[in-house]
This record gives sequence, structure tokens and C-alpha cells, in this order.
Amino acid sequence: MPAIRQLSQSLINKIAAGEVIERPASVVKELMENAVDAGATRIDVTIGAGGSEVVRVVDNGCGIAADQLPLAVACHATSKLAGADDLFRVGTLGFRGEALASIAEVSRLRLRSRPAGNDHGAEIEIVGGKPGDVVPCGAPPGTSVEVRNLFFNTPVRRKFLRTTQTEFGHVSEAFTRIALAAPEVHFTLHHNDRQVFELAASDGWLERIARFFGRDLAENLIAVQSTDDDDGSGGQARQVRLDGYVANPTHSRSNNRMQYLLLNGRYIRDRSLQHALGEAYRGLLTTGRYPIAFLRLQMSPELVDVNVHPTKLEVRFQDSGRLYSQFLSTLRGKFLTTDLTPRVESPADEDPTGGHDAGRTSELRQELVDWAKGGVCGWNAAPRAGGATTSGPSTGGGQPLELTRLEGRFARPGDGSAGRAEPSVGPPTADRTAGRNAEFSPAAPALQVHNRYLVAETEEGVTIIDQHALHEQILYERLRQRVLSGAMETQKLLVPEPVDLSAPEAAAASEHGELLARLGMIIEPFGGDTVLVAGFPAMLANFNPAEVLRELLAQLLSGDRPPQQDDLLDDLLHTVACKAAIKAGDRLAPEEIASLLEQSHLAGNPHHCPHGRPTALVFTREELDRRFKRG
Ligand code: ADP
Ligand code: MG
Repeated sequence: MPAIRQLSQSLINKIAAGEVIERPASVVKELMENAVDAGATRIDVTIGAGGSEVVRVVDNGCGIAADQLPLAVACHATSKLAGADDLFRVGTLGFRGEALASIAEVSRLRLRSRPAGNDHGAEIEIVGGKPGDVVPCGAPPGTSVEVRNLFFNTPVRRKFLRTTQTEFGHVSEAFTRIALAAPEVHFTLHHNDRQVFELAASDGWLERIARFFGRDLAENLIAVQSTDDDDGSGGQARQVRLDGYVANPTHSRSNNRMQYLLLNGRYIRDRSLQHALGEAYRGLLTTGRYPIAFLRLQMSPELVDVNVHPTKLEVRFQDSGRLYSQFLSTLRGKFLTTDLTPRVESPADEDPTGGHDAGRTSELRQELVDWAKGGVCGWNAAPRAGGATTSGPSTGGGQPLELTRLEGRFARPGDGSAGRAEPSVGPPTADRTAGRNAEFSPAAPALQVHNRYLVAETEEGVTIIDQHALHEQILYERLRQRVLSGAMETQKLLVPEPVDLSAPEAAAASEHGELLARLGMIIEPFGGDTVLVAGFPAMLANFNPAEVLRELLAQLLSGDRPPQQDDLLDDLLHTVACKAAIKAGDRLAPEEIASLLEQSHLAGNPHHCPHGRPTALVFTREELDRRFKRG
């Protein structure tokens, strides 16, 4: 039977260090946080060889008295918590009193400090956790911490360090997170004697964002702000302030790392809020793209527990549902009143790195030129031979589509059918038209060109609408409302239709039966790889049930399918909306054009179809004037 022994303090510290100090970037984070907590207005960070050789952080903060230096590097010693209650209202970045001790355990650490009022400083050196004596020294007011040879006494850890470049990448990210959260502090970062950043305090937050992420992005940020007072009765104590910037959907990333969420000056990650962010951008970004955001949350420290994660990267909110709603409604409300239509710019101004729409833009330009030359098919012109054809019987034989037929089937957004996880967002429908969406007012004359685009005069200039994309977006938004409120209409089949599937299709069908049912697609097993379609989405009444089922299953089986149920559902909604929407190549009657434009305000955002392509392009009058050399 093995004997149980008390661990030595040194071993305890090494274990603790493993939790907090993973790599040089962790050292940078902890030292910078201490400097911010000390009230510094200037913080200089110097890195050697990715931080494995040296990390030095110098600040002009409050300093540490000579007799306190040994305590500062002792474990579980902090000046930031007085009593147990303080743990539930943490106003500083640090509070666990373990960072300096942990770092000192696995490096050679020199701590030098001079409190503001003193005329000289003192220093202490700790090598692998063994503290030396405190000795007086000359030093400017503030604190300087130098960490050399990280993990010199824990070779296993040292082996895990990556290349200088990789480690510096992490360091740079740690630096960014803290410098973003403290725009009132002057920061510098040097790596191997090269200056990487010099960030003045005076520049403001947007400028700081621009310094880190480039001017182009900064110019495409949309400011958002909101204050949630709870029910108003809680007063200041329960107030949650949100402010910051989110990027125009033209700027997105393939991962969510560009989502900077700062809670009371602390960078955090929060799945729920990230999800809210994704929700707010639903329909604005292509699947697999993530929004960019810089958001600051301010709330009383009592409303959040920051003591749930050793590096405090994650926190626990008292009322995360409320925050979720605030996020979603603030962003959605903003988007509804913001014009997100991509502007067509002159070739000279065009981003040479080529926005993904460059090709399409020039194609549209050509269309406009054709139109101007008189080669336009009005609504009485016959559909062009060779134009896109559709498989749907609803458009067969060039029959005009009855858009109004669809009209009655769906609730208008905002008429009380907001779904479970879907807080009511933005102003009610009537107000929406007050935003930029009013530009599609049916009063404006519109012309169908090439049976695929609608050209409308607007106050601003000329808007060119992709008829399929717009209709798809409208249908998608309605479907979403329906599905979220559980009111999706199913068309029951009198005689269930058997459909033979491939083995993977059959597996997907049984795995996702419930999901499909939410869409109105009701299937039952029929033995082997055959299923019975008992009901299917009423909106697709004109399509072949087997074909619809196969398409939905193909979506479920596609390689890049999202793991989240909700995202999966969303993909299926895209599929249904895309299928049901009028196609490019469908000739529209004037009433249909009017009807489409009239409904455009029902789309959550009329400017992008669910695939993330724009639904409309605007040629401003100024731009036209310029091109015709009038301006
Ligand atoms: P914590 O930050 O959780 O309190 P640390 O181990 O990081 O724990 O620091 C221990 C203590 O040392 C802090 O509580 C603080 O009093 C002091 N300290 C550390 N760094 C600085 C600094 N740069 N300026 C002033 N005091 C500091
Ligand atoms: Mg600390």
C-alpha cells in the first residue's frame, strides 16, 4: 500500500505554475495585468527570443515597498483581496496571489520596485522558487519584473515550447488583449530589440483597434452601444453597459478569434455571447465565416464570478440569458438601421486584394452598361433562350410566379411569433421601413433586366437587386420565424411516399429525424434503407417530396456541416428557402416585381442572401455623375 505524503511547497508551486504558466505568453499576461492593476499609465514590454529567454515588463504604477517584496513573490499573497466577500466583487485583474510565485518557481525572476513616494528602490531575485535577499537599488518609480530562462528547471515544459515565432505570436496576442482593454495606458512592445508596437494613450479606442488590426478594418466597423437596466428597479447596481464595434459583414474571418470581448477591462471568452454574436449576423455571413467584434461590457463586479478559471479567461455571469438578449438585440437593432449594401466603387479605388465580390461586381457593371445601351428586356420581353432554367414546376413553362400565393402562409415578423431563444429584436416591422430598407419602396419604378435583376431608382441613386437572392432572403427570414416559433406548416401526404435512400442517407435521416420534423419534413422508417415521407414543408408543395428529402439529407451529409443543431437547422432553412425562391431567369410580371419589392422589408437584412452574397448593389448618384464626368 503506497504511503500518503504531504507535498513540499515547492512541488505544490510547480503544480500550480503548470495551471497558470503554460508558455511565455502567460508570463506576459500576468505581468501586464499586475502593471495595469498597479494603476500604471505606461507599460513597456520587452521580449527576447519569443519570451523563453527573457520577458521584461516595466511600469510606472504604485510600486511595492521593500519589506513587501518577499510577500509579493510568495504564493497565495495578494494585496487585492481583504476579506472573503471581496472574492465576489473583484475589481482588479488579479486576485489569486499566485502569478508571481508561480513564475518565480519555474524561472529566474528579478523584481525591482520603487513606490511613488520613495527616493530609492529595492529588488529581490528568485531562482527556481528560491528567494534571495531584498537589496536596495536605484530604480525609477514603479515596478520592473524580469523573467529569464523560463522553465529552466522543468525541462519537460521547456520541450513543449514552440519556435520563437510561434511563441512570440502568443505573446503578441496576450499583449493585444490587455492593450485593447486599457486604451488609457501607453504601451510599447519590443521583440529582440525591434519595436513592434508603440501605442499612445491619447489615441482613443478606435485608433488602438486600427493599430492592431489595420485601418481598413477600423473604417468598416459599426459602433454599437446599449445599456440594460434590468427592469429599472435595480438601479445602477444591476446595470449592464455594452459598447464597442462590430465589423461590417464585408469583413469577416474563418474563425472566431477576432471576437474581442472585454468584461470590466478583462479579456474573456464566452460561448454563449459568441453564439449571440453569430446569431446577430445570421444571414449576413456565409456559413463558416465569423463576425469580427470589439465589445466592452461594464457591470457591477457582483453580477459576475471571475473565480471559475485559473487564468480567468472564462467567467460565470449571474444572468447570462439577459446578456445574450442584450447582445442580440443591440446588434440586430443596429443592423436594421444600418445600410450594409456594398457600394460599387470605381476600379481605381478598388481593393487590389480583391473582395470576393469583385468578379460579380464587374459582371453587374456590365449588366448596367448593357441596360444603358438599350439592350434591356422589359417585363414584356420573352425569357431569353439559354437563360437559367429551373426544375421547379412552379416556374415551369414560363408561368409568372404568384408571389402573393406565398404571402398568406407566413406570419409577418414581429406579430407575436418570436421563438424561444429569440428575444424580440429591433423595432417592430412598421418601423423597419424607416431605415435604409425604405429604398426598395414599391413606389419607386423598377425594371427587370435579363430576367434576373431588378433595377430601381432610389433616393440615393440606382439599386440593382438580385431577384433570387432577395426572395430567398425574404423566405428564409419567414421560415426562420416560423420554425423558431414551432409553427412550421407541414403538408400531410394522403399516401405516404416511400423513398429509397443510400445507407448514409438513411442513417442521416434517422439521426436527424427530429430536426427534419421541425422543418415540416416528417419521415418514418420503412425497413432497410427505405423511409416513408408522411409530410413535408408546405412551402415546397410544388416539389417532389423525394427530391426535397434527398436535398436536405445531402446538406446534412456534406463535409462542412456545422456540429451545432441550430446551425444545422439553419443550413436546412437555407436549402428550403433557396429551393422555394424565384430563380434567376424567371420572368416576373410587374405585380410580382412590386410584390417582391414590397416584401423586401420583411427580410431581416435585404442586402445579403443567406449564402452571404449581396442581394443588392447601389450605384450612388455621385458615382454615376463621376463616371459620366459630371462631377
Ligand atoms: P495577484 O495579482 O493575484 O494579487 P500576483 O502574484 O500577480 O498576485 O502579485 C502579488 C502581489 O504583488 C499583488 O497583489 C501586488 O500587490 C504585488 N504586485 C505584483 N506586481 C506588481 C506591480 N507591477 N506593481 C505593484 N504591485 C505589484
Ligand atoms: Mg497578478
